[in-house]
Amino acid sequence: MKIETKKHIEPKPRVQIVSPGRINLIGEHTDYNNGYVLPAAIDKCIFFKIEKNGSKFNCTITSDHYPDALSVDLRAIKKSEITWENYILGVLDELLKGGKGIEGFDCMIKSELPIGSGLSSSAALECGLTSGLNELFQLGMTKEEIALLSQAAEHNFVGTKCGIMDQFASVFGKQDHVIRLDCKSRKYKYISAELDPYAIILLNSNVAHQLASSEYNTRRLECEKGVAIIRENFPNVESLRDVDLDMLEYCSWFLDDVVFNRCSFVLAENKRVLAAANALKKCDLVKLGSLLYQSHEGLRDLYDVSCAELDFLVEYSKRYKEVLGARLMGGGFGGCTLNLVHKDAVTNYLIDISQAYFDRFNIELTPIEIALENGTKIKTSQ
Ligand code: ADP
Ligand code: MG
Repeated sequence: MKIETKKHIEPKPRVQIVSPGRINLIGEHTDYNNGYVLPAAIDKCIFFKIEKNGSKFNCTITSDHYPDALSVDLRAIKKSEITWENYILGVLDELLKGGKGIEGFDCMIKSELPIGSGLSSSAALECGLTSGLNELFQLGMTKEEIALLSQAAEHNFVGTKCGIMDQFASVFGKQDHVIRLDCKSRKYKYISAELDPYAIILLNSNVAHQLASSEYNTRRLECEKGVAIIRENFPNVESLRDVDLDMLEYCSWFLDDVVFNRCSFVLAENKRVLAAANALKKCDLVKLGSLLYQSHEGLRDLYDVSCAELDFLVEYSKRYKEVLGARLMGGGFGGCTLNLVHKDAVTNYLIDISQAYFDRFNIELTPIEIALENGTKIKTSQ
């Protein structure tokens, strides 16, 4: 009689990663101008299972949001025609360029994070993969290195010249806190987000205008153009962070109106972030709310990144004394608004604004309740 012997299967080292999206309380388009931001990681995440597959160079990555798996040969990484694949390929390319010793792996991705809604599913994707590979192959990267490498992947493979905020928030988030991040020094402080009896409510406009990524890069160039002209008069200026209102006024002759407006928005938004951080520390939520409304006005009128749907949602919110503030969140041209709403009023507010939005645009509004959560979570098993 033939006796079946059980084959001993070597357990494969594997890691599981929970990689969060983020909100940004205030400080839009300031990160790539070396300014201040006030983001937080949230309880809506992308989940990764990553394991070594025994091969030297072959990797397979699947995402529950896309039908086809991505197969990669680590010896021949090149850009793909398919957008989501470039986030993955970009991370792998940056790791290899940096001489990090990665080998064949399989990766499964599942996500509960709305895509393209301003909650930064892109940073959650990049940072989750980078953190997972860092853990699986013991690459010894710090959290800051993970954020920076992920940002570089987005610049070089996807082509969005994003600042560091999204990646930083996803990696460094802390439960019930926002992060006051100085994007120049990358020094940060956690500020307790004591909002009670108010809550942060996101309203997903469910529009994603195509302009978003090209206009994002244009805004960045406009700011750089402004800096180059200001520097002719003030040679020590490296970024808009080093410019104050007097300097900007002094240079206004040489700046065209569009560039002047972009720069003046960034200067004012930086001040608002610092004021908002102080307001939060003092639990002055009325002040915080008014800064949110001001931020939206600047984004709409000076930075020109809003759209009819977002303007409608913010204006409509002003009807409610229980809504202390509202603004578009993220790069603009669609995605979510962030609203500071009294908890007792949330239900009525949501019913009302959803109906009004549908009547006006024939689009369903999706409210998203969020909690502020820790950054990347890692679980390793042998
Ligand atoms: P946001 O970061 O605000 O969600 P972006 O346009 O910057 O919007 O990034 C969205 C892109 O990130 C998607 O179009 C897709 O390419 C990629 N992405 C996000 N989540 C996933 C996912 N779960 N699986 C695969 N790709 C994803
Ligand atoms: Mg993004």
